[in-house]
Amino acid sequence: MARPRLSAKTYIDGILAGNRVILSQAITLIESNLDTDNILAQEVLQAIISHTGKSLRIGITGVPGVGKSTFIESFGGLFTHQNKKIAVLAIDPTSQISGGSIMGDKTRMENLSIDKNAYIRPTPAGNSLGGVARKTRETMLLCEAAGFEIILVETVGVGQSEIAVKQMTDFFLLLMLAGAGDELQGVKRGIMEVADALVITKSDGENQKHAYRAKIEYENALHLFPSKENKWIPPVLTCAAIQNQGMNEVLEMIEKYVIHTKNNNFFYQQRENQNLYWLHQNIKDVFEERFYQHINIKKSLKEYENNVKNGHIPPWQAAKDLWKIFENNFD
Ligand code: GDP
Repeated sequence: MARPRLSAKTYIDGILAGNRVILSQAITLIESNLDTDNILAQEVLQAIISHTGKSLRIGITGVPGVGKSTFIESFGGLFTHQNKKIAVLAIDPTSQISGGSIMGDKTRMENLSIDKNAYIRPTPAGNSLGGVARKTRETMLLCEAAGFEIILVETVGVGQSEIAVKQMTDFFLLLMLAGAGDELQGVKRGIMEVADALVITKSDGENQKHAYRAKIEYENALHLFPSKENKWIPPVLTCAAIQNQGMNEVLEMIEKYVIHTKNNNFFYQQRENQNLYWLHQNIKDVFEERFYQHINIKKSLKEYENNVKNGHIPPWQAAKDLWKIFENNFD
């Protein structure tokens, strides 16, 4: 049963007026899987799109336990204390039910979650990264239209979720632990390569010297990567978020990056390329969804799967045959 919804105009006016309650309701609309909600959500997005893009979008990744929420709590405080509005979003493709994921737990950021300048939204539920990522990106756009100046998008890095975050943010921060090997941290080389900065967390007490050593090691490792198109050399910093140490340095570094990439135009080009990336992602998702939901595909798929499994039909041929079935019955 469809839940009662507001009119598109009420959502749009509420978002543009910075009304938190309506913003939350509009995000719920985006997260819904109902077709009618989907149509309404897209109408709202279309209306607010010219009010988006003004925030600074920062992506944060790192393995569970690296200190992401502690970092965000402390780092986010830098903005809220300056009366700047910050939204914290998350991508966790493993979350099946809303609020059921570790990442989505609001109580992790105790101060931020009660700060009037902060808005924390748990990861949307979903079975596919594509769906979760799209909803988070659309949520980001709503938050921008509602006047949030800083958007943090956090991920644990399951599957390709770091790439999704990288593709929706201006600056991509990788948090690392000192003293744990790369393999232990499950950090994929490709992620280090696309990070705009590395920050070694928990650089306090006894751990400080390990953090410093790790900083030098990672600086050396980063030097081996090819230079970036935007001519930015990713720095390695250390921090102790629990003591609010190193946070200003991270902020100054990001500000430097923004000036650098705005000067050489990369900042704007990257956003344009990201828009295109999401267009093509969404095309794939739309097609796939329509395809698998089609009644005749549902009927025929099992048989084709069995034939491919047993080696009776090559997969490419089966895919083309199925496409014909889909196309001929396109409603
Ligand atoms: P997440 O899973 O990446 O979000 O990590 P959390 O922020 O939940 O932190 C994991 C653990 O590391 C918690 O017990 C934190 O208290 C601890 N931690 C986080 N930051 C620091 C820090 O700066 N110093 C120390 N000593 N511990 C920290």
